[in-house]
Amino acid sequence: MPEPNWTPVEAAFYELLRSLLTVWNEVGLPPEARSEVEALLAQAKRGQLGALNRARRRLLRHEQVKSWLERERASLLEEENLRLVRLPGGPTSQERPAFCCPTSGCEYVWYQRVAAVTPPPCPIHGCDLDRADSS
Ligand SMILES: [Zn+2]
Repeated sequence: MPEPNWTPVEAAFYELLRSLLTVWNEVGLPPEARSEVEALLAQAKRGQLGALNRARRRLLRHEQVKSWLERERASLLEEENLRLVRLPGGPTSQERPAFCCPTSGCEYVWYQRVAAVTPPPCPIHGCDLDRADSS
């Protein structure tokens, strides 16, 4: 496990980028970019969170990474029930309406991937989630 004092989302994102390295060629990424990303992830593991963000930005230049990331991250977030952190420059979630906890200060966000699935209650507060279209 990474030693830095990461949030669950950051730690999950790190593992996600690590797993991208294992499918690098399948995703169709240029081989010359791989060592740069590996170096950034190594820096991130040493506690440099800026490196994690640089690796993310570096990877998001590639359209195939965006779609891979959206897909992987969505399933990861559902499985791990993690809070979502929006990716700057990433694809929007227009096709997946967001629902937020109405409790002040609560950052829980749930994305509806299938319209027939109703939003669950906030896992922290137990209250119904509000649709967050306007933000
Ligand atoms: Zn809440």
